[in-house]
Amino acid sequence: MRDIIIIGSGPAGFTAAIYAARAELKPLLIASSVEIGGELMNTTEVENFPGFPEAVMGPDLMTKMQEQAEKFGTEIVYDDVVELELDGPVKRVKLGNGGVEEARAIVYATGSAYRKLGLPEEATLSGHGLSWCATCDGFFFRQKTIAVVGGGDSAMEEATFLTRFADKVYVIHRRDSLKASKIMQQRAFDNEKIEFIWNAEIAAIHGTEAVSGVSLRDTVTGELRALDLDGLFVAIGNDPRTHLVHGKLELTAEGTIAVDGRSSRTSVPGVFAAGDVIDPHYRQAVTAAGSGTVAALDAEHYLAALDDAAGEPAQAAQLAAVAE
Ligand SMILES: Cc1cc2nc3c(=O)[nH]c(=O)nc-3n(C[C@H](O)[C@H](O)[C@H](O)COP(=O)(O)OP(=O)(O)OC[C@H]3O[C@@H](n4cnc5c(N)ncnc54)[C@H](O)[C@@H]3O)c2cc1C
Repeated sequence: MRDIIIIGSGPAGFTAAIYAARAELKPLLIASSVEIGGELMNTTEVENFPGFPEAVMGPDLMTKMQEQAEKFGTEIVYDDVVELELDGPVKRVKLGNGGVEEARAIVYATGSAYRKLGLPEEATLSGHGLSWCATCDGFFFRQKTIAVVGGGDSAMEEATFLTRFADKVYVIHRRDSLKASKIMQQRAFDNEKIEFIWNAEIAAIHGTEAVSGVSLRDTVTGELRALDLDGLFVAIGNDPRTHLVHGKLELTAEGTIAVDGRSSRTSVPGVFAAGDVIDPHYRQAVTAAGSGTVAALDAEHYLAALDDAAGEPAQAAQLAAVAE
């Protein structure tokens, strides 16, 4: 049986692995079968990860993190976790290939998925004018014309934030009223750079090398029209990847895994969670990496406490034997 298994190969998983490996816990990291490296594999330049003043390509950053985790002794399995048994002192992790791995501690770092529009162009234009993260990519759109899709709080927040950079921000919403809170709505309505396009959905995204515009379909009349754009931000929600732990770990009202305060401790002893799967607000590579550190350190302390507890009876028996 292993000391620790880490599930997920994003910034949270690899950072947890670097710390656990350097603590000589010989971690096993389950990286998934197809999405190795996590969300940053879907983007181009990352300009806000500390240490890279000239920016770093998302996939390059993830390759470096993997190299660093392996250098200190992390073993990586390229498969998906399909089932988990988390109760009791031995945690069991079932893999897609049918194999079962066991450990005394688990770090769960499966991330979250931005909801997509369901258009084929999303695969090719992601990171090329198409984004799901204004904090990450807003800076690239100075003096540009862009659009945000969505009608909730996060869409209003992203649109308002993007007016710091862009000259014009359209908000495209499929209804004629917003779901966002009144205060967020008002802030967007009051912003002169924001223009609302009501009752419209994206029928297609235009552009070969980069986004050049969209086709809008009127949700009432079905009419199509073109809109020229330099960038498109999709803000229609985010789903933490928690399906494997439903009914096993406590979740928050926002659907993320509940943890104890600023720690990574979940509702089950020996199970720690990190990264976007516990984070309804910040969802950045550097916050995910920081939270991977917390999870590895929490797991390390948990394992040390288990060892101490196991050592106490043995020590007592030894002392008794000496006394005799
Ligand atoms: C297009 C895009 C651009 C972005 N740009 C930036 C940026 O410039 N700067 C920034 O700071 N942030 C950026 N982000 C956000 C950043 O990518 C995330 O905050 C960060 O990757 C979260 O890290 P994580 O480790 O929690 O999860 P993820 O990176 O999502 O990794 C989760 C991992 O878990 C794996 N996994 C899930 N389920 C299983 C399973 N059952 N079995 C095995 N493995 C599993 C996944 O395959 C994945 O490898 C961007 C996000 C996107 C989508």
